[in-house]
Amino acid sequence: MSAQDRYPVARPCLSDLEERYLLDAYRSGWVSSQGPYLQRFEEQFAARCGAATAVATGNGTVALHLVLAAAGIGPGDEVIVPALTYVATANAVTYCGARPVFVDVSPESWCIDVEQAAAAVGPRTRAVVAVDLYGHPADYPALRALCARHGLLLVADAAESFGALLDGRPTGDLADATTFSFFGNKVITAGEGGCVTTSDPALAERMRLLRNQGMDPRRRYFFPVVGFNYRLTNLAAALLCAQLERADEIVGRRDAVIATYERELSDPPLINPQPVLPGVRRAPWMASFLVGPPGTGGLRDELARTLDLLGVDTRPFFVPIPDLPPYADAAGDHPVTADLARRGINLPTFAELSDVDVKVIIDRVRAALSGISGRR
Ligand SMILES: *Cc1c(COP(=O)(O)O)cnc(C)c1O
Repeated sequence: MSAQDRYPVARPCLSDLEERYLLDAYRSGWVSSQGPYLQRFEEQFAARCGAATAVATGNGTVALHLVLAAAGIGPGDEVIVPALTYVATANAVTYCGARPVFVDVSPESWCIDVEQAAAAVGPRTRAVVAVDLYGHPADYPALRALCARHGLLLVADAAESFGALLDGRPTGDLADATTFSFFGNKVITAGEGGCVTTSDPALAERMRLLRNQGMDPRRRYFFPVVGFNYRLTNLAAALLCAQLERADEIVGRRDAVIATYERELSDPPLINPQPVLPGVRRAPWMASFLVGPPGTGGLRDELARTLDLLGVDTRPFFVPIPDLPPYADAAGDHPVTADLARRGINLPTFAELSDVDVKVIIDRVRAALSGISGRR
């Protein structure tokens, strides 16, 4: 394959298998939120994650809300979340009428700082939602100990870490409940989709009830509680069954793309790869680098602008959640989050990038970097 003029940051990897399963679901007439692919996906996904159960949902945001709602989190409660994450993590807490309490991330993993999470626990704290930022699992052994000490629910937002391992255990089995997203730019996708894995049967049953509008499974059109329509379709589940069968191939190729970027581009302090802690196999969501030395700013945006002109799309890291208007009155100082948000950039990462494509992108990044550093 030859070089392309323009490289997007993400692209789904869909094959004949996805087409076959999707058409099969379509022709069967089971296009809505019942059907054999749904059950098959939930069983196979739970097995892959080492969890007892998987509850498929319409997307990753409602997966987060579903867990918190099923756990009974509501007004007056506080939920500890990292300051550096996608907005959905905090919004899910807000949907419950509860208050997100933001904690800084660790410079070693870019995930929630466990000591600062411990310091944020108060009488109203009910849960911690850790986020596996850019594919790197949070410190679940330490978080489990913290949550056990205070009787808190531990939720893992693994939207970005499908395929990651911590001490050999997959995300999906590292917290009380783990949420996934299958949005179009995630490692495996159905366009939109999500899932919660758990080994807590009572929590799973409550999530199934709430997912289906709160309808009593033994009495049709009887709704003992206010639920939601958070169901996934059988069409989306058909795509996910195929993606799951091909997951090792997809993860393997994305790993290789990121490994090549890291080998060819790491040049501290100008450009620094994502750190990975011992015992961690990071999921290959999006190649992540920090531009410039700690505490600096501006170089990342300059690199992004130059790469845009050279035909390489990039993404800046997330804006710290406490910097967003709905969360502006949140207390606390989050210096690591602020620094990462200023310096972080994601490069194109998808399975269909050929070796030639990766080389072309690397050449363009090098050209952009030498332009920037040459001018300083
Ligand atoms: C993608 C993502 C979500 C939300 O997933 P959707 O399927 O887009 O609703 C939640 N948390 C994190 C960290 C994400 O990256």
